[in-house]
Amino acid sequence: SGKLNPDYTFGNFIEGKSNAHARAAAQHVVETPGGAYNPLLIYGASGLGKTHLMHAVGNAIVARNPRARIAYLGAEQWMNHFTAAIRHGRTEEFKHLYRSVDALLIDDIHFFAHKERTQEEFFHTFNALIDARKQIVLTSDRYPKEIDGVDERLKSRFTWGLSVAVEPPDLETRMAILIAKAEANRVQLPREVALFVAQRVRSNVRELEGALLRLTASSRLRGEALTVEFARNTLKDLLAAYERLVTIDNIKRTVASYYNIRVGDLNSPRRTRSLARPRQVAMALAKELTQHSLPEIGEAFGKDHTTVLHACRKVSALRQTDLKIREDYENLQRQLGA
Ligand code: ADP
Ligand code: MG
Repeated sequence: SGKLNPDYTFGNFIEGKSNAHARAAAQHVVETPGGAYNPLLIYGASGLGKTHLMHAVGNAIVARNPRARIAYLGAEQWMNHFTAAIRHGRTEEFKHLYRSVDALLIDDIHFFAHKERTQEEFFHTFNALIDARKQIVLTSDRYPKEIDGVDERLKSRFTWGLSVAVEPPDLETRMAILIAKAEANRVQLPREVALFVAQRVRSNVRELEGALLRLTASSRLRGEALTVEFARNTLKDLLAAYERLVTIDNIKRTVASYYNIRVGDLNSPRRTRSLARPRQVAMALAKELTQHSLPEIGEAFGKDHTTVLHACRKVSALRQTDLKIREDYENLQRQLGA
């Protein structure tokens, strides 16, 4: 099984609105492993600290009880280990190993999708550990009920305990993360440079870290001071990518794939409900996330500006009353890096 990364601790996990809930739940698990939050499932997009929190739980459990047996591994590794055990006729050993740990931490369980035999085995491991009141921590890139290709009874178990989301960090948290990481690396990061980067690099913490690394490396290499101007030049391509990110085309592609329809369907004149709603959502996103005018957006969808206006109002009203639409909209905003 994989090794716990000692660098991922609660101590260096910066808290913000976007991750406070997940962090609190993780800390609760350390205090009462095998308690009410079992399994603890942390879900959210890539680069938002799921793996970090999972290791933090493992490290903290070991710090409290050095004899605790923790298995940490990615879902893919778990599957590989399982299939190797089958090949070598060692499934009994495999079963015994994973059913005798004090805590089982499995990262990225969305990987289990469409792996029936692995799911079956995981189902039994899961049940054995829960029965023995051993802690399970899981991460996933989406809410478990939304993972296609996972058996219903396993899916339902994923949500038996507590499922918490990690969201993309807001501006204040992005600032705090940059400043803390700079400090940890003994880098002098002027506040205005942190703000400049935090305002532009919005998607996730991994990208923020990457941007900071590039800034510090090239400022050392070139012996130049870390100014906003320096940051603008050094990160030129990254920043350009962010500016390109949210285009109407991009919104269309993202919405179409989210609703499992074709991009062309978003432009089609058909009025069926299954197409009308995604189309309205796409228009509303275009209005909110791009600088385009109503007529421009209308043109991009083969409609006039009143249709776009209607769509924006409709979606905004539905977001107040329809939980599903609200969730869809927020998921899409997130996927678009907004
Ligand atoms: P995920 O598993 O959600 O894809 P990771 O846990 O691998 O994301 O996080 C990506 C990087 O960002 C890691 O280096 C991690 O330490 C860092 N990171 C994420 N969230 C935070 C946070 N709140 N505070 C400090 N570092 C963070
Ligand atoms: Mg991860």
